[in-house]
Amino acid sequence: MTSTSVFVSGANGFIAQHIIKQLLAKGYTVIGSVRSHQKGEQLKSLIQNDKFSFEIVASLTEKNAFDEVLKKHPEVTVFLHTASPVTFAVEDIEKDLLKPAIVGTVNALNAIKRYGPQIKKVVITASAVNIFGFGPYFDGEQVYTEDDWNPITYEESLENPFFGYLGSKKYAELAAQAFATKENVNFDISFVTPPFVFGPQAYVVKDKANLNLSNEVVNSVVKLTKGDPIPADGSVFVDVRDVARAHLVAFENDEAVSQRLFTASSSYTLDTIANIINSRFPNTTVPRGDESRNEEINRSIQKFDNSRTNKILGFDYITLEESIFDTVDQIFNA
Ligand code: NDP
Repeated sequence: MTSTSVFVSGANGFIAQHIIKQLLAKGYTVIGSVRSHQKGEQLKSLIQNDKFSFEIVASLTEKNAFDEVLKKHPEVTVFLHTASPVTFAVEDIEKDLLKPAIVGTVNALNAIKRYGPQIKKVVITASAVNIFGFGPYFDGEQVYTEDDWNPITYEESLENPFFGYLGSKKYAELAAQAFATKENVNFDISFVTPPFVFGPQAYVVKDKANLNLSNEVVNSVVKLTKGDPIPADGSVFVDVRDVARAHLVAFENDEAVSQRLFTASSSYTLDTIANIINSRFPNTTVPRGDESRNEEINRSIQKFDNSRTNKILGFDYITLEESIFDTVDQIFNA
């Protein structure tokens, strides 16, 4: 058990809730930030643990957003920044996606520099979209690694909300790296860079009709009934419990300092997800997938080699079958 206090921004998020669950299980004290008192109370009632408390950070982009909470919590020595917009439903791409991601990251780092001199470890939830190329930059021959960067420019990010999300994550990571170099900071930074994150919610599922964005990929298959076509689509996934675990390794293991932890399990197609659901839930109305299409679909999915990360993490990833089973079991039965 430990007396370390960890700050988690965006505490009510899908990934953050798993991080908090794992931190509490290891005896850490957790202070989470949320956007409103109501969200904090809701989260507290789910977590039910005296070692968890919350603070309000109403806006990531407000000047000095994290200053007050860090002044109030001089006991915090680890800062995990997960808060960032994860949506394509935006009106103003720059204001609603890029700014909260980039300015929010810089605000967090500025507050740590000024008001958290005792904070020695910072972990930022980045994304595999910072590594992979998409659209005109997709390269089916390339084997993407921790060294690669999505070539998308800031201007291209403004073209549509999907590109906006890509740019928000890439330019937030770059801003953090630039801050660390320019400000000669007193803390270590590591990045966790997951692809699509599937898996059960850490606590109860409030609204099964609409899950968080990445789990809606699984839910979109769950919602299909016999006769519905399965879209010929796929990508790369990792289970949320592994992503959370990587956030802990990122500050507990010195080998993770300054690294981009490229946490990725395997590729998936919607046909394979449909077949896992059919084999594990025999009463389902989900149509069977046609996995003979996988070879073709796989040509549009990025290849990757994350062996450097896996060596640092030191654990095996949860498989697609296990992740889909646990996700869908919670949707059907919880
Ligand atoms: P969620 O949408 O579940 O959580 C996002 C969190 O960020 C919520 O706490 C949310 O608060 C907060 N947030 C979003 N926009 C703002 C804003 N403008 N101001 C303040 N807070 C905001 O998403 P995930 O848990 O999936 O994502 C967490 C992190 O992981 C993000 O940084 C995301 O980019 C990254 N990531 C996620 C992947 C995935 O597949 N899920 C893949 C790769 C990276 P609120 O609830 O109030 O909106």
